[in-house]
Amino acid sequence: MMAQYLALKQQAGDCLLFYRMGDFFELFFHDAKIAAQVLDIALTSRGEHGGAPIPMCGVPVHSAEGYLARLIKAGCRVAIAEQVETPEEAKKRGGSKALVARDIVRFVTAGTLTEEALLEPRRANVLAAVCEVRGVIGIAACDISTGRMELEECAPDQMGAALARLGASEVVAPESWENAPVDCVPRPNRSFGSDEGEARLKAVHGVSTLDGFGQFSRAMLGAAGGLVTYLDHVGRGALPLLLPPVAREAGTHMAMDEATRSSLEILISSGGTRRGSLVEAIDRCVTGAGARQLAEDLSAPLTDTGAINRRLELVSWLHDDPLLRGDIRGILRALPDVGRALGRVVAGRGSPRDLGQLRDGLSEARRLHDLLRARSDRPGPLDAILPSLAGHGALCDLYARALVPAPPTERSQGGYIAEGYDAALDELRRVSGNARRAIAALEAKYRDDTGITALKIRHNGVLGYFIEVPAKHADRLMVPESGFTHRQTMAGAVRFNALALHEEASRIAESGGHALAAEDAHFEELVGHAVRAKEAIAATAAALARIDVAAGQAERASEGGWALPRVVDEPCLEISGGRHPVVEAALAAKGERFVANDCALGPQDRLWLVGGPNMGGKSTFLRQNALIVLLAQAGGFVPAQIATIGLVDRLFSRVGASDNLARGRSTFVVEMVETAAILSQATERSFVILDEVGRGTSTYDGLSLAWAVAEAIHSINRCRCLFATHYHELSRLAESCDALSLHHVRAREWKGDLVLLHELAEGPADKSYGLAVARLAGVPAPVIKRAKSVLEKLEKGRAATGGLAAGLDDLPLFAAAIEAAEEKVDALRERLNGLDIDALSPREALDLLYQLKAQANG
Ligand code: ADP
Repeated sequence: MMAQYLALKQQAGDCLLFYRMGDFFELFFHDAKIAAQVLDIALTSRGEHGGAPIPMCGVPVHSAEGYLARLIKAGCRVAIAEQVETPEEAKKRGGSKALVARDIVRFVTAGTLTEEALLEPRRANVLAAVCEVRGVIGIAACDISTGRMELEECAPDQMGAALARLGASEVVAPESWENAPVDCVPRPNRSFGSDEGEARLKAVHGVSTLDGFGQFSRAMLGAAGGLVTYLDHVGRGALPLLLPPVAREAGTHMAMDEATRSSLEILISSGGTRRGSLVEAIDRCVTGAGARQLAEDLSAPLTDTGAINRRLELVSWLHDDPLLRGDIRGILRALPDVGRALGRVVAGRGSPRDLGQLRDGLSEARRLHDLLRARSDRPGPLDAILPSLAGHGALCDLYARALVPAPPTERSQGGYIAEGYDAALDELRRVSGNARRAIAALEAKYRDDTGITALKIRHNGVLGYFIEVPAKHADRLMVPESGFTHRQTMAGAVRFNALALHEEASRIAESGGHALAAEDAHFEELVGHAVRAKEAIAATAAALARIDVAAGQAERASEGGWALPRVVDEPCLEISGGRHPVVEAALAAKGERFVANDCALGPQDRLWLVGGPNMGGKSTFLRQNALIVLLAQAGGFVPAQIATIGLVDRLFSRVGASDNLARGRSTFVVEMVETAAILSQATERSFVILDEVGRGTSTYDGLSLAWAVAEAIHSINRCRCLFATHYHELSRLAESCDALSLHHVRAREWKGDLVLLHELAEGPADKSYGLAVARLAGVPAPVIKRAKSVLEKLEKGRAATGGLAAGLDDLPLFAAAIEAAEEKVDALRERLNGLDIDALSPREALDLLYQLKAQANG
């Protein structure tokens, strides 16, 4: 057995091997140790291998799904080895000692789940494949639970941002690729060939050219090859539902890198869960598919005014008509998850219940279609969606006739094909029903005949039907002429058979078997209809999700008194009465009120420096404006009274290092790497929020960096920017930067206590209130007192020397400073260009190097 196990383990590679033995999946060796730890189950041992006992643990087959879910969550991948023949077949094949043949029937990995129980209803489950073809990154992504597949390409430095947007639960990449993303699953290089990808896609969709689906680059096709090959490997040759690929065009979505996404807590909060995230505060969808679509919208806000306005128009219509919205949400709420049911059916793992879900979902879609079509005031963009909601009449009729109202999840017992659909099946059922009734009648007859009132006819899996009497009456039936034959003697009872019973039982078995076979055949045929209509059904599912998102956004907006944003092309950001949806909800839960604040950025006033005490509301203000931009471009209302938003091409959010201590890496380095990315990527159409950048290092370093970064953003990037800082000294930037203005969050000391007003006002912050905040936070009075006297000393010293920023008066302007630096570089370049290297002796070359270095150092 171990030989068979080891051969399968070799095939399983770095996946844990679930080895089927009877009613258990067993794990051995290192796999057992990992599983025992993750699942918190007993680790035992068995036999020995190489002189040592073999570690082992196991999970019951009937509850394997729960264990699988936990292993996948812990980052494991699992190979399932099933018995592929019965013990009888094994004996027939190889004698009494023959081992039952086993084979890996499939792999279960985070990105390739279709089981309802293993998937989260409100989260898409994305598998991505990435590769590089001649300096271009190709990415293929699909959610196999619904079959959606997207291909895109990007520059190597944008790969991280693209993967962050996709939020894939599993990423595969070529095994020998040096720049592969961390934690990816390595796969053979050849599967990422673009020819391979093209051939695979053509085969999957049965087409001779991909032109009908769009234009795909070599890099996209390479990634698609890697993806489909992996799915093929994981499903052992059975591919899941894959819809035709869609090419995602570069630049159609607002770019956000990973740091921005996590700092804005879009889909998951800093706690690592959905709780406290933006999506949780926004999501009012009534279907899982709607929630998944909303999450995608928030991950990839649009950059096309037309497309944004089309979404907004629909939300606005539903916002203004609460009755209609209520009706629509009522219909949607009862909907099954059509997309995922289709995914299971096409993947060959569908149940009668899934077909029932398709029937119910598609008929309800039709009802929604009729409701919306009847409205003459419907907005234009709805007309693009409506046709997808209808058109499944024949399929719905067929399923309505063929299936019982609530079909079961199991096929093995039958009973899901409706009466009246197939006369032959009805007849078989009638025969077996008659036989069942006949058996009930037999019981009464045998009781009469024998006079044993305790006689019963029973059934079990081993004996089938039998007659059972208490032991004390058994003798009467044992006599040969009684008409009964003995079958089994139990502790208090004896079991018998009788000819008439045997005949009826055979009738049941035979007709039941035939009925099951007939139902199976119908099932396959019904599945075939869904498979042929898969693209249209997927389109219906997408349309339903889109309507749910719009209705949910409208609901959220009316709940919170939100505003319809105006999205324009000029680089401005004018928000009155803006609020932070997550902080506001958290405060409301405590019965506190959120103070709304305005923001007004434009070409002449691009950069706001925001000062004020800690806990004063600076971060909140920065983020609420970033979130309002994001929500608007995702096509939803925004938490504000009025909002005019100049389209943003890239959004950046950075938080000073000390807020992120938990991350482990040198946080200051992280902060600087992220800041560098902004300085190199932000354009005049971008929006940047910088929260206390520079505080991860010493005061002087931090101040100088914050100073230089603010100057560069103002003069070079020229993007819209909100910059929170506690360095008072930065306020002097207002003297040299004309599009920079000073603001602060207000605070007041009242009777010795600090009152934070969370209200934004113009002008620099008057003082830092650090000690007052410390007192508010519970630092003991003697410590505060001592700090006060230290502070007084420091401030005296500062007054005498001119303070931290003394000497900055004669600092040249930022642009001039850059020119000077460039001049110096050019002098060096000139000297280098003028050199005849071949004419130098080694000694001269070395001297020259020293000179050049001295020149570079100024
Ligand atoms: P800072 O960045 O200035 O240290 P934060 O933005 O982190 O301050 O805000 C600190 C706390 O103050 C928040 O957790 C929130 O409870 C409260 N707060 C912030 N802004 C507001 C506001 N506009 N209205 C009411 N409370 C606010």
